Amino acid sequence: MSGYAAEFMDAVRAKNPGEPEFLQAVAEVVESCSIVLDRHPDLREARILERMVEPERVIIFRVPWQDDAGEFHVNRGFRIEMNSAIGPYKGGLRFHPSVNLGILKFLAFEQVYKNALTTLPMGGGKGGSDFDPKGKSDGEVMRFCQSFMTELARHIGPDTDVPAGDIGVGGREIGYLFGQYKRLKNEFTGVLTGKGLAWGGSLIRPEATGYGCVYFAAEMLAARGDDFHGKTCLVSGSGNVAQYTIEKLLDLGGTPVTASDSGGFIHDPAGIDREKLSYIMELKNVRRGRISEYVERYPHAEYVPVDPSLDHNPLWAIPADCAFPSATQNEINGTDAANLLAGGVTLVAEGANMPSSPDAVHAFVEAGILYAPGKASNAGGVATSGLEMTQNSMRLNWSRDEVDGRLRTIMRDIHSACVNAADEYGTSGNYVNGANIAGFLKVAGAMKDQGLV
Ligand code: NDP
Repeated sequence: MSGYAAEFMDAVRAKNPGEPEFLQAVAEVVESCSIVLDRHPDLREARILERMVEPERVIIFRVPWQDDAGEFHVNRGFRIEMNSAIGPYKGGLRFHPSVNLGILKFLAFEQVYKNALTTLPMGGGKGGSDFDPKGKSDGEVMRFCQSFMTELARHIGPDTDVPAGDIGVGGREIGYLFGQYKRLKNEFTGVLTGKGLAWGGSLIRPEATGYGCVYFAAEMLAARGDDFHGKTCLVSGSGNVAQYTIEKLLDLGGTPVTASDSGGFIHDPAGIDREKLSYIMELKNVRRGRISEYVERYPHAEYVPVDPSLDHNPLWAIPADCAFPSATQNEINGTDAANLLAGGVTLVAEGANMPSSPDAVHAFVEAGILYAPGKASNAGGVATSGLEMTQNSMRLNWSRDEVDGRLRTIMRDIHSACVNAADEYGTSGNYVNGANIAGFLKVAGAMKDQGLV
């Protein structure tokens, strides 16, 4: 890191104690972009980076709700409105007990660059709550969502801030949130994305993050004259992103062999085919069960419980060609990365946000494998949210093929933007630098044009 970058990071660290994920995300961008700042002293003078790490607005609020037994509960709600230089704030809501200010700031910060890469006019934001939807009844989830939206509604709007889903926030939660917004504002607008098809949603939005991630990986392979045929793929998670990653891998000839949740993972060496995938979808989306149940239905597969205190996750030690981490941040550490490389993995495409620790990223880049950072490879979700906003504004619905075609084009364009930026700044083949630099330059240019705001 250059002298300026090191001093900058010292200042960010001093100002944001207790936010390790946010500092990790900022350090990665600063490391990639210091060469850009050396070439563009005007951006340094305009204090662009200093402004980018300071959210435009942070909203923290109380979310009181009542459970089915009549007991009162209080959770904390957040919305980070990070950067609106290129469009309204846009980014998901996460409901998970681990949610805190630092985690949401890291996600909002990443979102700014990711949204810039999509080529669509969207700023960056993120929000959520430490509420745990697991084990709650539909009525409890609804009352929580209504209370959460009662406060959030003051701060969002179709031209201001447009949230979507993330961990713990799927179609059910978006429905309850949208219903309460509509009731409070007496208006039917595209204030959330990920809506149901009958009430303003877009075809392909549920599939978009997983599909987009595999499309991006297919571009990386194609650049080396390769494709997915005959490739064994490790996938973590079993939620929205993991499910549609598995589906698209099957479409393109790959063989997904794993899926996981916070309890452990299943390994099915015969491959998770379409029938097994629909079992996982029913298990996770309808019955809201645990992935361990997979082996009751498919006894030839193995279930491995994962102890979070272990220094590595045995999922990543299974020999394979490709890996798609699609669960959560920092799920691959340095040991896991070494295991992946030793097991023959030559492509890692991140469906989750920041699933690889700095040590792991370093190991992948050093090894020269195809490594796609989440802010590029998982941008298909927010890109299709952008397409949902466009359809809402035009008051029409595009066909499945139309949206899927646009998604595929966007992922191809993001791939090219990463490759070109990496080439231009002398780090060819480094998708981390490519994504950070391309995203940074777009947002920085817009911020400069708009003056000191
Ligand atoms: P879901 O809630 O649908 O699924 C999350 C999956 O990851 C579940 O299988 C969950 O297991 C597992 N998981 C969550 N937290 C942990 C943890 N701390 N340790 C181990 N496993 C965990 O979320 P999504 O699929 O939507 O999101 C997955 C990732 O993709 C996140 O990083 C998210 O930010 C990112 N992402 C999502 C987008 C989207 O459009 N949905 C867009 C871009 C990125 P369990 O059920 O046990 O909790």
